[in-house]
This record gives sequence, C-alpha cells and structure tokens, in this order.
Amino acid sequence: MNSLSLSVQSIFTLDGLLAQATPHFKPRSGQTEMALAVSETISSGGELVVEAGTGVGKTYAYLVPVLLSGHRALVSTATKALQDQLFSRDVPKLVEVLKLPIRVALLKGRGSYLCTQRLSQARQSGDASLRIHAHALSKIETWSHSTRTGDLSELSGLDDRSPVIPLVTSTRDNCLGSPCPHFKSCHVNLARKEAMAADVVVINHHLFFADLNVRETGMAELLPSVQTVVFDEAHQLNEIGINFLGRHVSTSQLLELTRDILGAGIQFARGLVDWTLICNVMEKATRDLRLTAQHARPGSRLRWAEPIPDDIETASWLTAMAQLQVALNAAHSALDTVSEMAPDFVRLHERVSMQLASIDHFQEACLDGSVRWLEVGTQLRLVESPLDISKAVQTLMLNRLPEEIQTHSAPENSVPGSQATSSKSWIFTSATLGEDDHMKWFTEPCGLSHARKLRVASPFDYASMAAIYVPKGMPKPNDFSHTRSVASWVEKYARQLGGRTLVLTTTLNAMRNIGEALTAALAQTGELEVLVQGQGPKRRLMERFREGAQLGGMGCVLVASASFWEGFDVPGDALQLVVIDKLPFPPPNDPLVEARSQRLECMGKSSFSDYSLPEAAVALKQGAGRLIRSETDQGLLVVCDPRLTGMSYGKRLMSCLPPMRRIDNESEFELAVQQLTKTSTTNQTS
Ligand code: SF4
Repeated sequence: MNSLSLSVQSIFTLDGLLAQATPHFKPRSGQTEMALAVSETISSGGELVVEAGTGVGKTYAYLVPVLLSGHRALVSTATKALQDQLFSRDVPKLVEVLKLPIRVALLKGRGSYLCTQRLSQARQSGDASLRIHAHALSKIETWSHSTRTGDLSELSGLDDRSPVIPLVTSTRDNCLGSPCPHFKSCHVNLARKEAMAADVVVINHHLFFADLNVRETGMAELLPSVQTVVFDEAHQLNEIGINFLGRHVSTSQLLELTRDILGAGIQFARGLVDWTLICNVMEKATRDLRLTAQHARPGSRLRWAEPIPDDIETASWLTAMAQLQVALNAAHSALDTVSEMAPDFVRLHERVSMQLASIDHFQEACLDGSVRWLEVGTQLRLVESPLDISKAVQTLMLNRLPEEIQTHSAPENSVPGSQATSSKSWIFTSATLGEDDHMKWFTEPCGLSHARKLRVASPFDYASMAAIYVPKGMPKPNDFSHTRSVASWVEKYARQLGGRTLVLTTTLNAMRNIGEALTAALAQTGELEVLVQGQGPKRRLMERFREGAQLGGMGCVLVASASFWEGFDVPGDALQLVVIDKLPFPPPNDPLVEARSQRLECMGKSSFSDYSLPEAAVALKQGAGRLIRSETDQGLLVVCDPRLTGMSYGKRLMSCLPPMRRIDNESEFELAVQQLTKTSTTNQTS
C-alpha cells in the first residue's frame, strides 16, 4: 500500500480524524474500499469508474484522497445546486477536519455571474419591453454594489428561470471581452482567476463540456494544470456532454442577435446604415423559419435523416433557409463597414459569421457518428449531436492518439486499466452506473471500457427496510385506462399514509393526468396537498414535500416526471411510498434513441437487450433510489407495470434493484402500509 493509501485508510478508522470530528461517524467498509481505490488511482494515474450505492458516503471517499494527495484537482458535479453543496459544505468541513492549508474555488458557467456591462445596458435601455423588469433590475443593481463574487445564486428571491437573468448575464456571443469597460472588475474573469490560483476547483459537467468544445469558459486553461479530475454524478456525463459537443442553431439565438445588432447600431452608428431594415429582414427570416414547423406538436423532435426534416414542407424549408442566409449576409456586410467604430461591432460580426457557418453546415449531410433533428418548442432548434461522448473523452480528455481510440464496440475482454495512458487520474463515480459489473451502460458511451472498475454495494439492509410490489390487476401500460387506474390506486394508499407519496411518471402527459385526478380526489377535498411538477420552482416543491405534515401543514403527494427521478433526496418519513407508473424504456421514436438503436443493430447487437433494457434498468434504479435515503428509513416501492413480473426481461430489471422484500398480493401490501402508518405515528410522537 502506498503512503497516500495508508494515510487515507487511517482517516476512516474508528479512531481516525473523521471519527474524532464527526459525532455519528461509523467506519463503513465500502467507503474505505472506495477511498483506497481512489488513492491508488491518484498515485498511479489512469481512469477509475466507481459505482457506490446509496449510503456508502462516496463524497468523502473521493474528497479525502483528493485533499490529502496535495495534487491540484478539479471536482465536477451535475448541477449548480450540488456544486454549491460541495463548495460550501463538504469540502470546507473536510479541509477543517484534515487541517490542510488548501485553497478551494468555485467556478460556474457565465450564465451564473452578473455581467455589469449587460446590467448597465439594460438599465439605460429605452426598450419599452424591459419596463416590466424595472423593479428586479433595480434590486440586482443594489446587490451588485455589495457582492464580491457576482454569483446570482446569492441573490435571494431570484428564480433560476427568471426572464431577467439573460438580461444581466453574458453569453460567449455577447461578451465584449478585453475591450469591455468593466473587464477589470468582471465577475466571470475574477472567478476564473480565483480558479487558476486554487488547489481544488469545484465545477459542473455543463461547464466542463462547454469548455471542452469551445475552450472559452476558463476551464481549458485549468485542465492542463490539474493532476486529478473527479466527476461525481457521472451517470449524467454522456447526456450532458452530447449537448455541448454537437452543433445547434436556434431561432431564439437568431432573434437575440437581431436585437443586439439593432441596439448597437442605433447606439454607435445611427444613420450610417439602415439598421431597422437589416434587422426587420433578419427577424422576418427567423420567424419564417419557425413557421415551417407550425403544425408540429410543441415539445416534439422531428427526425432529420434526409436533407429536409420529416413533416416539414420542402419548398418552405428551402425558402426559409435561403432567406436567412441572405439576411445574415446583409447584416455581415453592414457590420463590416462599421467594425472600427465600437468593439461591439467586431463581436457582432463574429457572431453573424458563426451563424452563417452553422446554416451552411445544416445544408450539408450530417456528420458520421452524429444524428440530426429539429426540436419544436416556442422556438425552433436545429440540432446535430454525436451519439455519445466516447470520442471526445478519448481525444480531448485522455489525449489518446487516433489509433488508440476505442469505438462503442470496444472489446469487453480488454484488461482493466491496461491502456491507461493518461498521466492524470480521472475518477468517475455515481450511485448508478449500469446493471452489470462492467458498468457497460456508462463505460461504453463514455469511451471508458478500459478503465478500472469498482462497485460498492449500499450498506443499507434493504430487505428489512423496504419492499417492492407490482399491483395485481393493473392494466397493461399501453391500455387507455392505465393512467386512471394508477391514479385511483395511489389515491387509496396516499390517503392511508397521510401523503408521504412520490409518484414518478415516464411521460409528462401521464404526470398531468395523474396530477389532475389526485388533485380532484385529495386536494379539493382538503385531505392532502397534491404537488405537481411545473406548479412552481423545483426547489420550492421539494422543500414543501420534505416538510410534509410537520409544522401543522397537510401531508403531501408529489407527482413528477423527468428530473425528479434522480437527485431528489428525502430522508426520514416524509417519503414512504414511491410509485412508478411504467417501466422507463427510452421512447423508441425519438431520433437520438432511434439512431443509437440502429447503430447497435448494424454492429450485430440487439437494440432492445443492449440499449433499451439497460436504459430502463438504470432509470428504474434511480427512481427506486428515491425511497431509502438514510439507515433509519422505511418504505414501499410500487411499480404499476405488469411487465415487471410478467415478462422474461422483468427478472433482469428486478435484479438491478436493491434487494428489497417482495410483496405478492394486495392484502400483504395493505399490512405493510398499516405497519408504516404505525411507525411514522410513533416517530412523530417520540
Ligand atoms: S467582460 Fe464580458 S462578462 Fe465581463 S462585464 Fe464585460 S461583457 Fe460582461
């Protein structure tokens, strides 16, 4: 054992520093095993993938060796909320316990920091549409005089989705860079400088990939100087990564560019060019492009395997794209004539060039290994995305040579760690990384088939803490009565439990229907509060649900989809029943899912067995993972999909779930609910 491993091991013992400083600390063999594997990887370099079940304590298991190693490190997590938690809670606590003189910095993307230049533009703008934001802008201006970091999350009462945020933050497109009058005191630049001077920098996956692609956000300078990179919540890397590694054009980006050209033109070169005409033509061309998909369902993704996207009329598409090119070319020439009058024009000229290049790109064939689609919402997005991040991980992160690059079909029998050429150490960890010991669901699309792998089971005694039940007589998932049956089933048991119920749905439609049915049955009668995703900010819904019937409030049922399947943490008895409406298979008609399936079929694999089933297994495991969050939790998992017990593949899915007790009939389930009701009543009164 090397010296780092010896030091790390001593920290996690019964009389180690953690036990001395933390009142309830108990040594956990899984946590120590993970910490030692991380230490070895830090000492030797290379890549380590660790799946650590709920309750292992994975955050400390990677942070202790990272901090003790003395190496410069990046720690990346999936969301800004988790980033804040690491930076302001976990890392400072450990730095204090380990008594290490370590400088830690937090680095987020541009969109998180106040841009003083944009704030002053918004305050001075004569744009009548900004008047409704006058109060919020004035509040931000007052705060801007006292904030050191400019991180907008410090500003209480400002919702993440507030329309004011884009007005006071910069994008790569609209930042003026060094000619900006506020450059010296710019919060984005100061955060980057602090990151460059720190020993440990906490970032998020979005920032990491945005930078890997465009090398703009400050992380690109950081990466060569760090020796250790940790990705927590690594199960999200592939989906976040492909978003940044692809190519996009959106009508909202084009309209924003139009507004910025008009604003700068009138401010710095009024009368020299007919800016209103140029911008009107650009705006009309953009709106015409949006109108080509006016008949498509909002929220849909249109397949785009041929030169024209599916369900779009060829003539109107070609005309709209040509008009856009003409409009952008006109703006490009106009900006060229005034580029010396203000730095804003130079940047706008570059932005128009980039949009023109993207429009050209989307008129050519799609790149190999990528897929295209058209995303229909309030705006239209033209998207070209790689099918996975494997190539980017191997070339841009691990610096592999082209001949060393493994494809998605990498040999399964390669010796773990045998090809670890990187002198850096890369740690990838999450509670859910796949259904098998090779964690192929994660390692193949991430180009990490060769990495060392470790799976550490949860220390929880699931058999005594939780049970799983597939209700008898539930209709088949594609039956029209399925959603109604789920709602009435939930109504009965949520009432008995006094709320404490989370319903996770696979579609937004089911979420709305179940939400409406439960609201009518439970909320309008004043029995329980029914929360439905989208009713308010996610953070507020989560807080209300955790509070439950405490403080004299009503018990809660939360009906949610998508982002609530993971990262929703409710320890204690505010959550005792998790209901999943259907097995979470990926939607087969989604262009990305379809392209991934086709690729596997071309490789002689089965798209169901090698893609759909592992996807469902991981999602199911994440949904089920909401139930037991601490060692005193008790709860029931209900999957309202008879395929879990009736189909042969159900066994494979069941084996991925924590080893809960199986309930086979309704009366046994009723008893389990009664037992839970008793326990939670006892807990409340004790
Ligand atoms: S340098 Fe860019 S981000 Fe910073 S204040 Fe100026 S415009 Fe805003």
